[in-house]
Amino acid sequence: MTDDNRPSRAELLHLRGRTLSKGDPLVPPLTLASMYHLPGDPAGHRGYGRSDNPTWEATEEMLTHLEGAESVLFPSGMAAIAAPFFALLSAGDRVLLPSDGYYTTRLLADRILAKLGVTFDRRPTASFAEGGFAGYRLVFVESPSNPGLDLCDIADVARQVRAAGGLTIVDNTTMTPFGQRPLDLGADIVVASDTKAPGGHSDLLLGHAASRDPALIAALREWRKLSGSIPGPFEAWLLHRSLETLELRFDRMCATAGMVAERLAAHPSVKTVRYPGLPGDPAHNLAARQMQRPGFLIGLTLASGEAAEAFIAACPFLRPATSFGGVHSSAERRDRWGDAVAAGFVRLAIGCEPPEELWPALDGALAAAR
Ligand SMILES: *Cc1c(COP(=O)(O)O)cnc(C)c1O
Repeated sequence: MTDDNRPSRAELLHLRGRTLSKGDPLVPPLTLASMYHLPGDPAGHRGYGRSDNPTWEATEEMLTHLEGAESVLFPSGMAAIAAPFFALLSAGDRVLLPSDGYYTTRLLADRILAKLGVTFDRRPTASFAEGGFAGYRLVFVESPSNPGLDLCDIADVARQVRAAGGLTIVDNTTMTPFGQRPLDLGADIVVASDTKAPGGHSDLLLGHAASRDPALIAALREWRKLSGSIPGPFEAWLLHRSLETLELRFDRMCATAGMVAERLAAHPSVKTVRYPGLPGDPAHNLAARQMQRPGFLIGLTLASGEAAEAFIAACPFLRPATSFGGVHSSAERRDRWGDAVAAGFVRLAIGCEPPEELWPALDGALAAAR
């Protein structure tokens, strides 16, 4: 996997240090404010808590560094996904979505945006470019897709979409900026749920959108201010703290996931394993081209739904939970939500446990589930 264009991880930790005055705290204060002291001409000053907050600004500065692009913080991943839809679409526009991506994105389209006159088409991630992109105002990509972990060629999609006059949005939640850099691959906007690995401790919801196009960023900021879809300062402060260790956590999670995926693939109780880092994975060559790291999510299929539930229940170091990206490894059987997967399919999200303790626990749970 290539290592180009990664942001300086040392600079990330010292962004704030560059601006400190004598006696300032090293870490940003948590600022809870709806009103600001604002006599006279308000131009160029923080005016009101729905448009401005210094704790958001500190967190956005870190996200901007990580993305290499101006970033706007939102109160959840879904708020970050909704923002470009509401800010950029008009009645009559056509949008392409993955048919196998994050379920709530499709619900937002079907239940809310379709009523406003926007038309949505869907395609499987693995064959996303088949059929071309003519006539689409927005093309929304999720690679690897959640939960199936299929990939599509982001650079190729972004090139074709741009040639056809549309914009490409990539949901990069499963990878973080340390694992995949969609803007470097040509996407116009990247969106992500910071609830997952960036937050990393399963105690906050946040999201962000980033772009190198100032007009798109202005539209996203205007949407946030006018809709009131704003993050809480405390959550922003928590994320600021979490981002300081994201690289350490992500590095551990990916390294452990690589080891676990290899052993699962060789395990007699496991029918199939999806993990882009495995040389035998159908998406491995593409992953090696477009991803810096193979991520911390593993899809594994056991013999039956019962075996999958027993595996999850038997492992002392797996939290049975939806969502992923926390320090605690977690797993769930996706069929329980009606995803188009086998009954025995488990999405395994590797956390930060020491690998030499995690693997024996997983191995033991597989034996118990047999
Ligand atoms: C979780 C998730 C979201 C939604 O994020 P929230 O913070 O829960 O709103 C969007 N996309 C993907 C791929 C996700 O995994």
